[in-house]
Amino acid sequence: DRSLRPETLMMGYGYHPEWSEGALKSPIYQTSTFVFRSAAEGKRFFALANGLVDPEPGEQPGLIYSRLNNPDLEILEDRLTVWDDADAALVFSSGMAAIATTLLAHLRPGDVLLHSSPLYGGTDHVIRDILPEFGVTPVEFIASDPIADVEAALDAVGADLRMILIETPANPTNDLFDIEALARLAQRRAVGERRPLVAVDNTFLGPMWQHPLAHGADLVLYSATKYIGGHSDLIAGACVGTADAVAPVAAMRTYLGTMAAPLTGWLLMRSLETLHLRMERQSQNARRVADFLASHPKVKRVRYLGLLEPNDPDYEIYKRQCLGPGAMVSFNVDGGEDEAFRFLDALQHIKLAVSLGGTESLAEHPATMTHAGVCDAAKQRSGVTASLVRLSIGVEHPDDLIADLARALDAV
Ligand code: PLP
Repeated sequence: DRSLRPETLMMGYGYHPEWSEGALKSPIYQTSTFVFRSAAEGKRFFALANGLVDPEPGEQPGLIYSRLNNPDLEILEDRLTVWDDADAALVFSSGMAAIATTLLAHLRPGDVLLHSSPLYGGTDHVIRDILPEFGVTPVEFIASDPIADVEAALDAVGADLRMILIETPANPTNDLFDIEALARLAQRRAVGERRPLVAVDNTFLGPMWQHPLAHGADLVLYSATKYIGGHSDLIAGACVGTADAVAPVAAMRTYLGTMAAPLTGWLLMRSLETLHLRMERQSQNARRVADFLASHPKVKRVRYLGLLEPNDPDYEIYKRQCLGPGAMVSFNVDGGEDEAFRFLDALQHIKLAVSLGGTESLAEHPATMTHAGVCDAAKQRSGVTASLVRLSIGVEHPDDLIADLARALDAV
């Protein structure tokens, strides 16, 4: 019953206690393989899994082997479709596994991939350094580039655009990209029946505060390591979207073996029960932190969606596309790398570590850490400069966070 709200559905959607001796919670199905009741059943399950036959009305694909399907992943995937109102979802062993498997499923030699910048450093590396070796041409654009310039850059390349991948808000700058405008661009670039797919990395706001499919995207990608997991104790990823866009990714996942493990699936189901509580509190704390930083003399610029003013070019996109400002705050210290490092080294409670979205607050220096592998020109163009610090705000008491930040800024 998808009429209930996601917060309610996270308690039991997709699981029936009678499957497991009445257990309230789904057990961890820690098994590599599943026993068939008969050889004919095994044959039928494989035929369905390989698309050799069409399912009868109401027939579900049977359980075969945990690289293809496992109850913990299937229940979790059903729950992930709820937040984004998606047809289908897939869970992966990491966010990078979700992104790489999706790109390999949909791109072929000769294709063009249009991508936003900045991107998380790992994604940037796959797109700029690995995909060209497989004959895929990346075309980059930044948030302030007019769409007409993006189209001109695509015309200059001269090959068919196959996919658009954006990160919005962008890691680490919180730059926003207009999903609807890019979906229209994809429509204009259709070749016959074949329209380029629009994929959105929704790690920073999703799945609570941004639903890219509702704005015309075909696929939504997540590092589930972040808010979905939420406790900095696992690595996972997800891809959700329309049935047509997800199906090739599911096939590629089966053959690459990039799925998540049953225990990871189980932990993510537990985490989803408190997603809204964590994200709401994190966002309230982030607002307090952003206000504090904005008024501090040693802070040059704060990049937080909750501080956008109507005259900011991102404001209109924010109002139309996002349901909340999230809990990622980036800021430029007054100075450069030395000043940023002095600040980071002086923090006492907030840990100096990469990653984000967990219950605890973390701080890092994107230019030399998460985005270290991005070429200098791209870093400069997209605002990943030496003075930029990224904070992921947790669920602690906000006064303690602000006291820690104030003390660390004194050291700058
Ligand atoms: N996408 C974004 C926006 C990220 O921040 C990250 C990791 O930091 C990833 C993808 C990759 O996710 P994972 O580390 O789970 O592979």
